[in-house]
Amino acid sequence: MFEPMSTKTVTDSEIIALQKKVEFCFQLAEAFFNHKFHHSHCNFKQRGRAAGTAHLQKNELRFNHFMFQQNPVEFLNTVVPHEVAHIIVYQIYGTSVRPHGKEWQAVMRKVYQLPPNRTHAFEVPPLKSSYLYACACRQHEFTKRRHSRAQKGVEYICKECHACLTFLKDLHQAER
Ligand SMILES: [Zn+2]
Ligand SMILES: [Zn+2]
Repeated sequence: MFEPMSTKTVTDSEIIALQKKVEFCFQLAEAFFNHKFHHSHCNFKQRGRAAGTAHLQKNELRFNHFMFQQNPVEFLNTVVPHEVAHIIVYQIYGTSVRPHGKEWQAVMRKVYQLPPNRTHAFEVPPLKSSYLYACACRQHEFTKRRHSRAQKGVEYICKECHACLTFLKDLHQAER
């Protein structure tokens, strides 16, 4: 096991490494299909449980920096081809085929020489605790810090309806 060294800031060298790998994956696909593709923009905006997502219409690839940091080499060699393959399939077939269907699987196997895995083995970032409160007009989400202050007697008033907020439920627990 490796210790995930988690920092929030993305360094220039990390984004360059990502861009290079994305470019390389496009080049492999272009050599294979003898066709020029529209190369995607990429960033580290992905949050939560997904290692990456392909935004087909925007031609944008979002990658999870929290997971990238756990094992950059593994991430670049598996997650990046997976997501670029979605873009390749979209640019060839449009949206008429299934996301992880035989076309996508063929790109993974034949272009990238990779098993067409749909899951990743990276650690998922801890869920942010979130607590649901209600006033007279709507619901509000509280952070753990604000929730514990409310539980100690601090009153929170809705700016809209001026009612005092009351605790409804722990969203973190509800999602499990
Ligand atoms: Zn996928
Ligand atoms: Zn209100």
